[in-house]
Amino acid sequence: MDWERIFLHEVDSQFALEVIFRTTFMFIVIMAVLRLSGKRGVRQLSIFELAIILSLGSAAGDPMFYNDVAMVPTVLVCATAIGLYRLITWLMTKSERFEHLLEGKPVYIVEDSIMTIKDDIKDGLSKDEFFAELRDKGVEHLGQVRAAILETNGSMSVFFYPEEEVKYGLPILPHAYRKHINSITHDGLYACIYCGTLKQLSPGRHRCSRCTHREWVQAINTKRVS
Ligand SMILES: [Zn+2]
Repeated sequence: MDWERIFLHEVDSQFALEVIFRTTFMFIVIMAVLRLSGKRGVRQLSIFELAIILSLGSAAGDPMFYNDVAMVPTVLVCATAIGLYRLITWLMTKSERFEHLLEGKPVYIVEDSIMTIKDDIKDGLSKDEFFAELRDKGVEHLGQVRAAILETNGSMSVFFYPEEEVKYGLPILPHAYRKHINSITHDGLYACIYCGTLKQLSPGRHRCSRCTHREWVQAINTKRVS
């Protein structure tokens, strides 16, 4: 192995200093550009914002360490990207259709304790991920949830029933959820594991009237402990 080429490849101390200068300069440019974007933080990015950030990142990264990449065009790239960002966000405030086209719209995942999604995946969100999000918000079963909405930035908004209005619902803790059965052995209130529909079932096999699946788990109505 040619270790010297791998680690240094014709880098002398002068270029090393240059790298430090280039990186500092581009770092300042990136900070300035992100401040100009008007965004306050980057906890949750929409797809569109992520695209801007990625193009900024790749444009800003190269001139940090390639000695033949000039800095001014890179600054132009950043300025153009952020100009487009400001223009497009302005257009989105003017046109709801344009906004939905670029960022999607908020989607109900749960309404009145029942899943609005019948199939496993909708808008790139699998049911496992969705249940994990709900558990993260302290949800034990869907009977506690009045509405859960998937926002365009990928975050989940959850609205709860007050304690006295908590209903029976599909349990989503892994141990309870995995206890689902195809064939009911005793009478009880069951929830469809695909859509959360509740049904009073007697022993035997039953099909969910809403999503036509046949797997059930006993419904629970525990209160939330806050
Ligand atoms: Zn169902």
